[in-house]
Amino acid sequence: MRNILVIIFVLGLFQPVFSQDNKDSLFVRNLFDEALDSYIAYNQLIQLCTIAPGRLAGTDECAVAQDFMYKEMKAMSFDTIYKQPVWVRKWLQNGEETAYFDIGDGEKQYLAVDALGGSVATPEDGIEAEIIVVKTMDELQTLGREKIEGKIVFFDFDMNQHNIYTFPSYGENAGMRVYGAEEASKYGAVAVLVRSLTLAQDTFPHTGIMRYKTGPKKIPGIGISAIHSDMLAEAYAENPHVKVFLHCACKEYPEVKQYNIIGEIKGSKYPNRIITIGGHIDAWYNTQGAHDDGGGCIQSLEVARLFFALKYKPENTIRIVMFLDEEMAQRGARAYADNPVREGEQHYFALESDRGVTYPTGFSFDGPDAFVKKMQSWTSLFEPYGLHRFEKSGSGVDISFLKVKGCALAALVTESQRYFDYHHSANDTWQQVNRREMQMGAAAMAALVYLVDKNGLY
Ligand SMILES: [Zn+2]
Repeated sequence: MRNILVIIFVLGLFQPVFSQDNKDSLFVRNLFDEALDSYIAYNQLIQLCTIAPGRLAGTDECAVAQDFMYKEMKAMSFDTIYKQPVWVRKWLQNGEETAYFDIGDGEKQYLAVDALGGSVATPEDGIEAEIIVVKTMDELQTLGREKIEGKIVFFDFDMNQHNIYTFPSYGENAGMRVYGAEEASKYGAVAVLVRSLTLAQDTFPHTGIMRYKTGPKKIPGIGISAIHSDMLAEAYAENPHVKVFLHCACKEYPEVKQYNIIGEIKGSKYPNRIITIGGHIDAWYNTQGAHDDGGGCIQSLEVARLFFALKYKPENTIRIVMFLDEEMAQRGARAYADNPVREGEQHYFALESDRGVTYPTGFSFDGPDAFVKKMQSWTSLFEPYGLHRFEKSGSGVDISFLKVKGCALAALVTESQRYFDYHHSANDTWQQVNRREMQMGAAAMAALVYLVDKNGLY
């Protein structure tokens, strides 16, 4: 009898503490088990990459991708599926680019290049001009019009290999891709060639957005692979008068109407409080966009599938959003933030996956300190699965527009060493995605959403 009383006493004292923690860690375990057993999401990714490569916003390929996601959502148990209209730019590559330099005796060395997103075309018969190598934007001013006029500016910067998390290395030089043509045109350049923003040494050219502002003349911007950048730099070192030929035919067309695709599970307790989980459905013309960001879209959809599979009924309304047009102008993200899908909606929490679907290492949180602290209090629930980075930092481009609405933001953080090997290049194929790693990311996202849904943000 006394022993029983002791047992009852001990259980009575500790049970409430243990049971909640146990319940949460058990649910998280079940999410990972369900995700790791399933091939559904991976097959969805393969299909998306296969039927809609090059799905830049405004293209027919992007419409195919939107239809695909809509149908996949229809086959699931969402309460409502929305197609939110978004007007987007339509810019097309219009056929392969050509670039080469002469190596003597009429022989040409061809260069692997891709037009930068939003670039104007070269004249129909191309541009042939001497190049001038610059390593930083500031160098343009130092060189001045005298040295630049009539030439192709070749931005051949050094990628910083020292960052352990690789995203800052991308950020340090991305300005030359985005604004290089605009700046070089002020000094009379006829085109720009931009080294690919990759830490790998290979022959894949990488594209990405470039922008014109008020420059005197719009000149073409073209990305060149790392290996061919080195080759060209070497040729230039030997002969500073080396001439490069460039041709691209890209063109801007009238804007078209496409859609954010949104699947919604209505909250049982707080139907107006919205938790958004998403990725961007568009991808560059030269790629399947498996890591960027087909995988992030599929992971978001997988969060909903995991909840359905485990029969979890959320208290808040959960929305899975396939954002349109992240790469060019973020029109989808702006439309989602500015135009309520339903009356009275309040953006509560948003989570984006857009850093590649490699092994998840944690989350990045953007919001008040009390929110970040609460998120960090759950770290131990994720440690068994290898997630340990719970940091206050940026989130994702698409959900960033929800910040002014008072929404707390989070991003899935993944192992970053190989991300820029793939990013915005033909190398970003579904074969580069490991099913287990992608599923671990989806399970981690679902676990975080579950904890926020049940326990709130503060
Ligand atoms: Zn992306």
